[in-house]
Amino acid sequence: CTVAATELPQHLPMIDWITDPSRVARLSQDFAWFSPVLKRDLQGKVGEVVARPRTEEEIRQVVGLCAREGVPITVRGSGTGNYGQCTPLEGGVVLDLSAYNSFLWCRGQVGRAQAGIRLADFDERCRPQGQELRWLPSTFRSATLGGLFGGGFGGAGSITYGPLAAPGNVLGVKVMSVEPEPQVLELRGAEAMLLHHTYGANGIVLELEVALAPATPWLECLVELDDFEAALQLASEFGAAPGLLKKEVCFLGAPIADYFTALAEHLTPGAHVLLLVLAPEAESTLQEMVARHGGRLCYRKSADEVAASHRTLLEYTWNHTTLHALKVDKGLTYIQSGFDPQRYQAQVLALEQALAGEVLMHLEFLRTKEGAFTCSGLQIIRYSSEARLNEIMQTYRDQGVFINNPHVYVVEDGKQAGQLAPGVLAMKRRFDPQGLLNPGKLRSWMSA
Ligand code: FAD
Repeated sequence: CTVAATELPQHLPMIDWITDPSRVARLSQDFAWFSPVLKRDLQGKVGEVVARPRTEEEIRQVVGLCAREGVPITVRGSGTGNYGQCTPLEGGVVLDLSAYNSFLWCRGQVGRAQAGIRLADFDERCRPQGQELRWLPSTFRSATLGGLFGGGFGGAGSITYGPLAAPGNVLGVKVMSVEPEPQVLELRGAEAMLLHHTYGANGIVLELEVALAPATPWLECLVELDDFEAALQLASEFGAAPGLLKKEVCFLGAPIADYFTALAEHLTPGAHVLLLVLAPEAESTLQEMVARHGGRLCYRKSADEVAASHRTLLEYTWNHTTLHALKVDKGLTYIQSGFDPQRYQAQVLALEQALAGEVLMHLEFLRTKEGAFTCSGLQIIRYSSEARLNEIMQTYRDQGVFINNPHVYVVEDGKQAGQLAPGVLAMKRRFDPQGLLNPGKLRSWMSA
């Protein structure tokens, strides 16, 4: 760098800069603290200054200045990522896009917005047109659309629409390059997806266009069962049934639901619990299935009741399950796993038998990007050591289960088989020729 990052505000005084070191440090973090390994590895990694632009022109000015001066840029949405994705490893500018957040339009079953829009706001803005977002991570209240694309996977809704990466979910993105004179381009379809889940390391996403789903007055239920296998079968049967419209099927092996202190009045301690979000017309069939599997419906809220209570069960699913457990017991962590669609029930049962007590079985049912029905796990671990954590993940791999390791911050290490899609690096050469975006997160770039 010819100019220190901390001197940049003098060059662009009209931009909203944050220079207070404690605020800069806070805005350099995400939820990597769920992992004791990442907490250790990322300690002390902070940006030098934060820029919070409000318009495309302001973003262009900050990015152009950084490119001219060779200052690293790490893009940030709301900082709810889990792997230190928006933590700068080499200082520089944290480019906080949360103020670049306009909803642009909803036409038919397609919506478009600036990257910093919160998912809850996007969802809300589509509802008057009878539409809603296809997937909501459990962080939807604060997470941004750009952050979900840059670092996320999917969430509630993935049981019908698969992850974001499934073809047809994300239709296009507008991208800015990091160059002295930044360029702005629209990418469509598969080409746009080369910027997905790359931690903002190969382009700055300005706008996203996504396919939507018909808005539905979702019903929220909890079902308890005493038998692990019966609970797994009910979740599978209900989740896979194509005639039953649903948004979320979450399986919580005992004693995970005991960590949900705010729901304790509805739950029996020690029960296995299914958390289900379904269309009202699916309810009577669900009731038949619950009775057949020996379950108990112990909580039921209509969409109106959910809206009035400001509490949704969605904020108990996906990695919110881990968050609630961590609030009660700081000695926990988690792993992420993807089960084989052909034999996921057998895999789950074998692993439950092998690791019960140490690994608590949390499953999210979904469709893969190819459309197969299966479950992914966000198992809660009673943490003892890094070595034991690695052994547990290996036990999973030995059963043929994919591990998406959440204790690493390099993109390739978290992905299955350590592979990047072939075009990802070409995108980086195109949109970040100087290698200034989130340096240290793409191993293939470093070794190229
Ligand atoms: P950030 O954390 O700010 O950024 C994420 C990554 O994207 C960073 O690498 C950043 O550099 C990059 N980025 C951000 N904006 C842009 C942009 N405009 N252009 C290019 N790159 C960009 N994830 C799921 O998929 N599903 C879940 O259900 C889910 N549940 C979670 C629950 C909890 C309790 C927590 C802590 C996390 C969860 N996550 C989940 C992870 C995370 O919340 C989501 O991925 C979320 O969408 C990230 O959005 P964000 O705005 O906070 O992104």
